[in-house]
Amino acid sequence: MSESAVAQAATAAADPAAGDPLLQVDDLKVHFPVTEGLLKRQVGTIKAVDGVSFKLARGETFSLVGESGCGKSTTALAVLRMQTVTAGRILFEGVDVTHHSAARMRPIRRRMQMVYQDPFGSLNPRMKVSAIIGEPLVIHGLAGDREAHRARIRELMALVGLLPDMADRYPHEFSGGQRQRIGIARSLALDPSLLVCDEPVSALDVSIQAQVVNLMMDLQRRLGLTYLFIAHDLSVVRHISNRVAVMYLGRIVEIADRDVLFNAPKHPYTEALLAAVPVANPEIEANRAQQIIKGEVPSVRNPPSGCHFHPRCVHAMPRCRVESPALRPRDDGRLIACHLYD
Ligand code: SF4
Repeated sequence: MSESAVAQAATAAADPAAGDPLLQVDDLKVHFPVTEGLLKRQVGTIKAVDGVSFKLARGETFSLVGESGCGKSTTALAVLRMQTVTAGRILFEGVDVTHHSAARMRPIRRRMQMVYQDPFGSLNPRMKVSAIIGEPLVIHGLAGDREAHRARIRELMALVGLLPDMADRYPHEFSGGQRQRIGIARSLALDPSLLVCDEPVSALDVSIQAQVVNLMMDLQRRLGLTYLFIAHDLSVVRHISNRVAVMYLGRIVEIADRDVLFNAPKHPYTEALLAAVPVANPEIEANRAQQIIKGEVPSVRNPPSGCHFHPRCVHAMPRCRVESPALRPRDDGRLIACHLYD
């Protein structure tokens, strides 16, 4: 069995979404050619996403975490088909959308929407809030008559905690948190089942972040939404997630339930990543291995051989330099890609 087939089988075995997943990503690869000179001769390949597999159960929040450049945002864009896929498969609501044309994606895109990081840059400053929130309905021909359209916009504003009376104002008249609420209302306009949230609160003040995260959790409960959540802030991830996947240089190194991962990380990279986050429980804090990640993140253009993490890993063995570890299920149900656990 190939390494990718092992990873897929492993994911299917240990994933709570194995039965009827909303989203299934199998051995996803997103590679970019590196070219040089006037003739644009290809001299290399950037493997931004290199064999990523996971499934999302309906109604859960699945987070992708990792340092900048690990491939989490590229994975999210590929899932939305806003990024060309090099290889692998993306199934959404049971339909293989990997190679759908833009026209075939159009009705499916209604069901998978994006919440952007920047509530300042993602809203058109010249449009009234009512037009911003209602625009997806107009684009998809679902606006209905004027009264119905207006009522739907007011309903969406109330849903995200905005006063419907503010519908005729412009984005600059709102605070950062309110602007992110406008963005969320817009993303909900078409009744999606999946929201892909790329760093949705990282541009906001810390005090506002909690309000927006709590709103998202409340909306999930009320509307049965599923979230693919991308974030580098692990305290936010810990608060909102059901399960977490840790990525390093284009690959997933560990997938586990939120509490399992944060209370007892197993992969050396996960351990090191979480060691920087303070834990409220002093007993756990005292017993936690304070791993230090050695060195900088290597270039994704020229990643280390074998296990990509080996130059920075305190447990690296000779085998790690030559053999890439497969993502396999372990006794406690989590998936780990590390030779320590083979
Ligand atoms: Fe460290 Fe080896 Fe495990 Fe990679 S495979 S994380 S280098 S022990």
